[in-house]
Amino acid sequence: MITGFIGLGIMGSRMAANLLARRYKVIVHNRSQAKAGPLLEEGALWAASPAEVARQVDVVFTMLSTPKAVHQVALGEQGFLGHMREEAIWVDCSTVNPSFSRHMATQAAERKVRFLDAPVAGTKGPAATGELLFFVGGDPADVDACRPLFYAMGRKVIHVGGHGMGTSLKMVFNLLLGEAMLAFSEAIALGQSLDIPRGQLLDLLVGSAVAAPFIADKRAKIESGDYETDFPLQWMHKDLQLASQTAYEAGASAPAVNVAKEIYALAARSGWAEKDFSAIYQFLLDSGSASACAHK
Ligand code: NAP
Repeated sequence: MITGFIGLGIMGSRMAANLLARRYKVIVHNRSQAKAGPLLEEGALWAASPAEVARQVDVVFTMLSTPKAVHQVALGEQGFLGHMREEAIWVDCSTVNPSFSRHMATQAAERKVRFLDAPVAGTKGPAATGELLFFVGGDPADVDACRPLFYAMGRKVIHVGGHGMGTSLKMVFNLLLGEAMLAFSEAIALGQSLDIPRGQLLDLLVGSAVAAPFIADKRAKIESGDYETDFPLQWMHKDLQLASQTAYEAGASAPAVNVAKEIYALAARSGWAEKDFSAIYQFLLDSGSASACAHK
């Protein structure tokens, strides 16, 4: 099976590397060509445009930042969707909203292309070690056809249902991730402002029943102040916006996600957009100190 991979950022570059490591032939494209360099050294082939990828492969993977980026790469000038072989499969691993996934599934079907939404859980480390979780929406036969490819990049494939159901689960997942990181950050910042040493707070809370397990992986960032990016804060802001939009479309109420997304928006505007989303702690701490100073 010849695969194409479009979008070689933090996640896509590592996922494509795992396909290559399993000896798949991989044809790659990225808006910024330089990011393809290491993959080309490992044997990937470069295509000059998304359309050029599509003409040569049986399966196209996309791992792009936002719905807008996916739309542009699929359907814009030199977009790939109109150039895919009949009955080829497009697997969109980007975190996008379910209604957008369903729209893309329709666009694909009109061009006789099969579609799966397959966002992932797991960050830079699991992407590198091939331990991602795939949340998949689409036809069972298409999921089965792609299963070996998923297992080249991940350790678990959860077929949630039809088109848009993979991204539905992803909305739920990232709502929890974003809100949990924010709640933990707020708690630590409050504790510090009450003169409880941060080390003591972290010792007590990380790994306790009241903190999400993933926080343990963020402790070093909080302590060092080095928010080297695993998951960019700007994409957490985007995911919470998409979760809010998705709740609206479903007629559901998700009040806390709207508050959380606005706090991530402020952090992004304050210079933390491209840092790890755990920098929300630093943003809250700095904002708190600033307002405390203003009162003095
Ligand atoms: P990233 O490093 O910022 O990569 C984003 C990719 O999208 C890059 O290849 C970028 O191209 C491309 N792109 C953006 N706008 C584009 C446009 N208009 N046209 C063409 N290409 C465009 O982000 P990432 O962390 O890999 O995340 C990718 C997706 O996975 C996002 O939806 C994110 O929410 C999701 N995700 C991320 C993580 C994580 O831990 N990082 C975990 C799970 C899911 P350039 O290189 O040219 O900028």
